[in-house]
Amino acid sequence: MLCASIGAMSIYSEINEKQRTYFNSGATLSYDFRIKNLRTLKTALKANEENILEALNADLGKSMFEGYATELGIVYEEIGWLEKHLRKLMKPSKAKTPITQFRAKSYIMHEPMGTVLIMSPWNYPLQLTMVPLAGAIAGGNTAVVKPSRYSKHTSELMISILRKTFPEEYIASFDGGHETNTALLEQRWDMIFFTGSPNVGKIVHQAANKYLTPCILELGGKSPVIIDSSADIPLTAKRLAWGKFLNAGQTCVAPDYVLACNSVIPALIEALKKEIEKMFSQDPLKSEDLPKIINEKHYQRLAGLLEDANVVYGGKRDDETRKIAPTIISPASWDDKAMQEEIFGPLLPILSVESVDEAIKIVRSHEKPLALYIFSKKKENIRKVLSSLSFGGGCVNDTVVHLTAPELPFGGIGNSGMGCYHGKRSFQAFTHDKAIMDKALWIDLPVRYAPFKGKLKLLRMLMR
Ligand code: NAD
Repeated sequence: MLCASIGAMSIYSEINEKQRTYFNSGATLSYDFRIKNLRTLKTALKANEENILEALNADLGKSMFEGYATELGIVYEEIGWLEKHLRKLMKPSKAKTPITQFRAKSYIMHEPMGTVLIMSPWNYPLQLTMVPLAGAIAGGNTAVVKPSRYSKHTSELMISILRKTFPEEYIASFDGGHETNTALLEQRWDMIFFTGSPNVGKIVHQAANKYLTPCILELGGKSPVIIDSSADIPLTAKRLAWGKFLNAGQTCVAPDYVLACNSVIPALIEALKKEIEKMFSQDPLKSEDLPKIINEKHYQRLAGLLEDANVVYGGKRDDETRKIAPTIISPASWDDKAMQEEIFGPLLPILSVESVDEAIKIVRSHEKPLALYIFSKKKENIRKVLSSLSFGGGCVNDTVVHLTAPELPFGGIGNSGMGCYHGKRSFQAFTHDKAIMDKALWIDLPVRYAPFKGKLKLLRMLMR
């Protein structure tokens, strides 16, 4: 056992060392190298498209449509965006020089972080591995990728694609569970990009502390939906049901629970039922479009959350297929089991509030969420919610779709994460802004040098 773990450790340190040497050779720095490898990644994914969609189906029961829309398609768009903007992103940015430093040029170089570690979860196994990897490539880094073991089929396929496509000194990938993660976290990285739960995020952050390694933590938590009395209920129900039951609720930015004004709750429940039946039929457990729960552990956890719930709709499940029908819990309360943790499944508790102000108070008394959604026609209520609550990102009158825009940063705040990515922010996440002041040789202002007698007046004029 000891030998195995020492052996295993050496694999990680060996790769880490190889990548560091490769990075230090300067091979990953040029625009040509980065663009070529972004394209190589896209080509490799395209060549394996059918296998990827099948693997996603095997892991999570995702339909081909959902697999393409929420995984492959998003990766293609991200790579496309980076390809289009890479040259400009890599250019040093100009900055102003203060008069006291006359004469100089100031600029910011966007240097790669170096050798980075990317750890991803199982719920969008392809997207949450490949989008950060595209950012790492665009940034000019080497990368070690560690997908989740829970999404076995997709993770094994990704590892095999990456191993066939890239040399390990540039991009390496490892299979494995916690032990592998722990061994990887013991290595020295120039940056760690982690997506997963807040609890494991804390473990990653603690490990990163050893070398003060910068981290991007993409975490989760309970993301609320606020619905006021002016909301367009049929459209609200449609967009809410879509965002909640996508991937059977196993989405980090899925609406976790609803805070709805009393007066709209009966109509909201009726409209939600209608939408659920339109999307998944009257027997959702038989629908090919309803994904399954990733594994027995999470399936049993979700079954446990239903134990004390007031189920007004749904609630059925199938132990064989690990599918849980879209379920509405109402009235729900903060004492319910489903309100004690991030649900991460197709259960939707609806809590009643008197007003938007009450909803704001409730959200404020909990951890800052990754996402927040407000459904309203009243500008004043929308403004109040957006300006008084802190959360990663969100939508007005929709759910989840904010993460489809590469120009919008995607990330949490506080307990829901630190740092962000997507588009320009992915490049920024995987690069360091190095500040340079390049001084002219032909002049050297004497003000800053001692003796200072008689210079204060001039200094006051220059630095006001
Ligand atoms: P998780 O935190 O349990 O696991 C994430 C990764 O960490 C996996 O690769 C896992 O093997 C590893 N891990 C688990 N325990 C570990 C330990 N003790 N030490 C080291 N590594 C460990 O998360 P999950 O169950 O895979 O995913 C669900 C969570 O991720 C939810 O909280 C969800 O909201 C969040 N999430 C966030 C985003 C985002 O973009 N912000 C996206 C997807 C999921």
